[in-house]
Amino acid sequence: MASRTRDSVRSAPASGSIESEGSSAYPASVNRLIAEFARLPGIGRRSAERLAFHILKSDAPDALRLAEAVQDVKRSVRHCSICFNFAESDLCSICADPRRDRSLVLVVEQPRDLIALEQTGMYRGVYHVLLGRLNPLEGITPAEITAADLFRRIEQPARNCGGEPVREVILGLNPNLEGDGTALYLSGEVRRRGAAVSRLARGLPAGSQLEFASKAVLADAIEGRQPVTDRIPPRVT
Ligand code: ZN
Repeated sequence: MASRTRDSVRSAPASGSIESEGSSAYPASVNRLIAEFARLPGIGRRSAERLAFHILKSDAPDALRLAEAVQDVKRSVRHCSICFNFAESDLCSICADPRRDRSLVLVVEQPRDLIALEQTGMYRGVYHVLLGRLNPLEGITPAEITAADLFRRIEQPARNCGGEPVREVILGLNPNLEGDGTALYLSGEVRRRGAAVSRLARGLPAGSQLEFASKAVLADAIEGRQPVTDRIPPRVT
């Protein structure tokens, strides 16, 4: 038994960055856990080690709850078939809610933007999550985001939540170069399909990110949204 454990430690596949920092003294399974934590955004090697040691110290039921939570989220969470928000069934809770104004669609880049806007409690319409933004330099074209699905919601009310026609599209993209480019593209396409277009008010500082804006700023941005006519107005700085 003991020798088998030692062998498995020795034969553990060393992951480059971990091995280079001399952590080969850890048992293979600990190395693996550290390596997995270190792959998470914003987690450096030291933090990864701290997290791994925390797991090692915790009671088995506590640690397994974390493992189960990870498994559950990957098994049960998908994208809403209408708006691409996270959902645990075909529709997300917002699209499924008949009290929301389904004729008003706020377009955001990522589910976390939607969550930030939703936390203001100011918005009663529905959303459309693009899952990205246009970036011609990196080859992100309209086909890489959910733009076509948004256009279909406008063209075919049956594809919108509750089968309701889309009256207004609010552009809630991040106020930076790619966000502005995406808004410009969408505003033309949406208006061509007969829906009104507006954009969040510019209380949001240029270059900022929606998900980090305060509730008050986001609430003002929704309230003071500006109609978009033939061109996007230049940003006031
Ligand atoms: Zn949805």
